[in-house]
Amino acid sequence: MPVVDLKSHLAAATRLFRVPADNPDLTRAQFDAFSKQIPLLYFILISNTIAVAYTYVNVAPDWLTMIVPSVLTVLAGLRTFWWLRQRHIVRSDADILRNLRTTNWLALPIGAGFAAWSFALYPYGDSFAKSQVAFYMAVTVIGCIFSLMHLRSAALIVTLIVDVPYVLFFFATGEPTLKAIAVNNLLVSGAMVTVLFIYYRDFADLVASRKSLLAQQAATQALSDENFRLANLDSLTELPNRRRFFAELSSAFADAERRNVRVAVGIIDLDGFKPINDNYGHSVGDPVLIEAGRRIREVCEGFGPQRVEFARLGGDEFGLVVCGDPDDVDLLRLGEHIGGQIKLPYQLDTAHTGLSCSIGFASFPNSATTSEELYECADYSLYHAKRHLRGRTVIFSSELEAEIRSRVVIENLLRTADFSTEMDLVFQPIVDAMSEHTVGFEVLARWRSARLGLISPADFIPAAERIGLIRPLTQALLVRALAIARTWPDHVRLSFNLSAHDVCAAEGILPLISIIEKSGLPPHRIDFEITETAVTFDFVRAQQSIAMLKAMSCGISLDDFGTGYSSLSHVHRLPLDKIKIDRSFVSDINENPVSHKIIKSLTGLCDDMEIACVVEGVETRAQLDSLRRLGCDFIQGYYFAKPMAAVAIGDYLAKEGQRLEGTRAKVVA
Ligand code: C2E
Ligand code: CA
Ligand code: CA
Repeated sequence: MPVVDLKSHLAAATRLFRVPADNPDLTRAQFDAFSKQIPLLYFILISNTIAVAYTYVNVAPDWLTMIVPSVLTVLAGLRTFWWLRQRHIVRSDADILRNLRTTNWLALPIGAGFAAWSFALYPYGDSFAKSQVAFYMAVTVIGCIFSLMHLRSAALIVTLIVDVPYVLFFFATGEPTLKAIAVNNLLVSGAMVTVLFIYYRDFADLVASRKSLLAQQAATQALSDENFRLANLDSLTELPNRRRFFAELSSAFADAERRNVRVAVGIIDLDGFKPINDNYGHSVGDPVLIEAGRRIREVCEGFGPQRVEFARLGGDEFGLVVCGDPDDVDLLRLGEHIGGQIKLPYQLDTAHTGLSCSIGFASFPNSATTSEELYECADYSLYHAKRHLRGRTVIFSSELEAEIRSRVVIENLLRTADFSTEMDLVFQPIVDAMSEHTVGFEVLARWRSARLGLISPADFIPAAERIGLIRPLTQALLVRALAIARTWPDHVRLSFNLSAHDVCAAEGILPLISIIEKSGLPPHRIDFEITETAVTFDFVRAQQSIAMLKAMSCGISLDDFGTGYSSLSHVHRLPLDKIKIDRSFVSDINENPVSHKIIKSLTGLCDDMEIACVVEGVETRAQLDSLRRLGCDFIQGYYFAKPMAAVAIGDYLAKEGQRLEGTRAKVVA
């Protein structure tokens, strides 16, 4: 056998008698298991010892039969006590290793001591008593191997230190019975050692697999924690997201209900964010959103005494849950803080953003009985703020509730309305700014409800959109408007309003096209008015619908320009014929230089793009004069005429003819 081989075998053999130093999990498991077995080990040892000492008590000297067993019993008792205490002590890996090593090497003197004691007793006994010593030693070793299963090294030390002298000793007696017992013991010990090896290997494997299982569990837990974190986090702003918001809301709501205190929901919408995104792109829009989110979060975190949970709901919308019994004054204060922070300048190298925010609040129990209802009420307050109080905070109130109720009433009545008898059409002239000739009429819908009386299209058109009735309504109105327009002189055009739902789906636009084809009115005499908001709803679809109408040679007007997102990209990307400047810019054109400036730049823009410009809502001569100076092409408004019934049109056109004839005659004269 080569020397190296021999050396490595020797090293492997000595390792068998050592406690493994490189596997703290295994030694810890050994320590735990062993601390439970130790009382059994000492019990076997002491009870067997006492049984033998008892047999020899009259024949052997006292120090052998009394003193040695007593001292050993006391020592074993102390050791057992020490081990039992270990169960409740938390130990370091190094500590455990040191203790196991001590136990391991203690096996050597203890095993040797018991063997020596047995051999010392042996000469005093008769044949029976001698056999008892042989039996005692064999059984005790087997018992010890069994109890030391988890500490293989110690079990092997005991086996070796007792069994080798044992076999030699009893073979040396030459007594056949004792020799047979020695052989038996050797065989059984061999079998036990084999079992010991198998058991110990399985034990070590079990510890290793338990460790990897625990590691796996920890990894799975970490992964699921991370997933949970991500699932509840908005990826752009790293703020809590919509999902987290609703979870927070329902738990805060349940808590407020139980404790009988108030809880409020707030929804924040940034005003003026969309144009930033549209004009400068996401590379500017995203940092603005992140910064806005950071500012709102800072206000929420510093707000007291109420606790405010905060999340990004999506787009430029953020949500608040205000816990801790907030009253309206608290909510207004919170809204004011947030609004103030949002208005501060942003670090954009391009331009001043002019960002502000509208906030809608609603609180439980004042406004709602469920968390869903509470959210809806806050949403309605926000809607109200956006429409009437932009940049302000609105708290849901009984007036708003009445408004919602009337919305519901309108929706319900609209469902059963007969469009052919209850809907009226009125027509408002669109006049050439310079010649003052009527070039066309915009048709506006009127609803005469038997129950509610006259309802404004500003109320029932959105209601029809909400309940999905806008398409049949648009179709019914278009059929009638076209039939009326057919009776007009050839040069008079018809302007017809479309809603977002009409232009943002193929199902919306195709029926309209077939209605136009069947009407007999040449499509080039029709202008379709589409608001900016409708276009932004689904730009690609809107573009397709507009292209279809253009292909029929209908005209396209962008309605309410200036009130929506006023994104110039829309103007550039759509084949527009006219832009209608919203009447909000006209009312103070002569008093407010800003309005004057805006209209001036818009007319300039239309000029550049060769798009005609229509100004709505002109009510006075002074306004008209200013607009003429600014180069507006067409005018619409009460100054010329309020919307009129179809039957009044003939008269109106005739009077207009006479009036213009009169002025021409005056000029000629
Ligand atoms: P719009 O398309 O901007 O229509 C112009 C609105 O301004 C009309 O209100 C008109 O009566 C009003 N108006 C016109 N001149 C003046 C003026 O000099 N001063 C003032 N203060 N107001 C003036 P109306 O008829 O109440 O319609 C409101 C809105 O409802 C319309 O705004 C339009 O968006 C929508 N609408 C009306 N009819 C229809 C329709 O048949 N289909 C669709 N989809 N929407 C319609
Ligand atoms: Ca219009
Ligand atoms: Ca308009």
